[in-house]
Amino acid sequence: MTVIDSHTHCFPDALAPRALSKLESNEALTPRCDGTRDGLLAVLDRDGVDQCFVLNIATNAHQQDKVNEFATQINRYQNRIYSFGSIHPDYPDIRGAAKQIKEAGLYGVKLHPDFMGYDIGDDKFTPIFAACCEYALPVVIHAGIDPTSRSHIHAKPEDVARILERFPSLRLCAAHFGDACDWEGVLHRLCGKNIWFDTGFSALGMSVSGVQKIIANHDIHKIMFGSDMPWEAPSETKRFLEQLSLSDEQKRLIYGENALRFISM
Ligand SMILES: [Zn+2]
Repeated sequence: MTVIDSHTHCFPDALAPRALSKLESNEALTPRCDGTRDGLLAVLDRDGVDQCFVLNIATNAHQQDKVNEFATQINRYQNRIYSFGSIHPDYPDIRGAAKQIKEAGLYGVKLHPDFMGYDIGDDKFTPIFAACCEYALPVVIHAGIDPTSRSHIHAKPEDVARILERFPSLRLCAAHFGDACDWEGVLHRLCGKNIWFDTGFSALGMSVSGVQKIIANHDIHKIMFGSDMPWEAPSETKRFLEQLSLSDEQKRLIYGENALRFISM
């Protein structure tokens, strides 16, 4: 069985120390590696993970081209990395950016409303979702609470539900089980719908019983193992998931098969 971690991040070697220390002090998080591509892959080796999605994030429109350049550089590295590009809502040519991401062979688009400065329900994101539908690009959004913004949630389950209604053909993953701290909202607004979840950061914030309810009420084919490296190691997420009573078949889907299906459009 090929194990795929569907939620990781890494940075160019020269930028990694600064990127990590900034996030570390802002978010009070402790990185599990040095934030580089090779540092990430070393932890995946240690934790028995074969491949990963790297979810790159453009935190402003000016950075976007550079971020997507890096995403393209690391894509398919050692046949282990499925790299995602990013589109910032302020970027002047959103449709062109989606086309470029598709043509570069990247596997999807990552959006992080907290880091991008807009709520996910803001109309600024509408052209991005439309372009990703047009170019058949899967989208992963950060969903729910983020350590940088504990009082203002930028992507609530009800906001995500409205996106699904508006873009029924969109292949969308709400990271962190849709919202690490609001499993009831996820249960009522998202479970059973055409949405994917990843398990990112579950060990560090979620309740086992909440996650169990989400899994019991959602399509098991739409749940993907993801750690959120460098902020949580795959071995930590695995230990959390071991507390759920998953069958071998469910594990096979969650630890790899579902991720491959998510990116095959
Ligand atoms: Zn993440």
